[in-house]
Amino acid sequence: MCSGRIDLEFILRAFSKGMDGVFIGGCRLGECNYITHGNYHALNMVLLCKKILEHIGLNPDRLTIEFMSSGEGMHFTEVVDGFTKRVKELGPLGKGEGVDENELKSRLDAVTKLVPYIKLVKNEKLALRPEEKKYSELYTSDEVDRLFNEVISYHIDPDKCQACQICLRRCPVEAIIGGKNQIHVIDQDLCIKCGTCFEACPPRFGAVEKITGGPVPPPIPEAERAMTRQGKETRP
Ligand code: SF4
Ligand code: SF4
Repeated sequence: MCSGRIDLEFILRAFSKGMDGVFIGGCRLGECNYITHGNYHALNMVLLCKKILEHIGLNPDRLTIEFMSSGEGMHFTEVVDGFTKRVKELGPLGKGEGVDENELKSRLDAVTKLVPYIKLVKNEKLALRPEEKKYSELYTSDEVDRLFNEVISYHIDPDKCQACQICLRRCPVEAIIGGKNQIHVIDQDLCIKCGTCFEACPPRFGAVEKITGGPVPPPIPEAERAMTRQGKETRP
């Protein structure tokens, strides 16, 4: 498939399934048949993913992207040989870095869960067409550390929610649990942190909170979600 289809999730999935290295081959930059120039998109994904690997303690050399035409068989052989040699030098994924299996799985799972958020936050940068000499500067380690240290989460304040169901209808991934006369809560495992609920909650309620880099309060128990409505069923 076109290298423009490469997604951060595909790369992380390969590592999660135990691959020691991931090689991506794409058409030469500037020679894409389409105006979309998908190979630049793949390059940006790879540059970002290398910094993410670094952030979770994995060697970024385990991931590479090379551009070539179908007529460059020799070049293909050389780069694949070179990459294979490098990955063998690095050893098995995790072991080569001194990260044990369970810790490796937990780090990869945590990062994979944040892929939609990362793509949202880095949306503009992922669309850039960097010059070759600026590849190493496109994403910095500090920038990626900050990205993970300042992850935004959303939470519904049970004392402010009016159960209007607007956020529930607008959430793109059905991460909001609620209903008529039910205080709404966000399932943090499903939430992709798109911020739609924060924008959609009417300002007069202002029930959706944005939390930067901190823990999210647990959802209120299901038995306590019934709403207080003048004279009707009340919240205990
Ligand atoms: S941030 Fe987006 S995905 Fe998460 S609950 Fe709100 S609308 Fe749904
Ligand atoms: S939009 Fe706001 S008030 Fe309405 S259900 Fe969602 S969180 Fe509650």
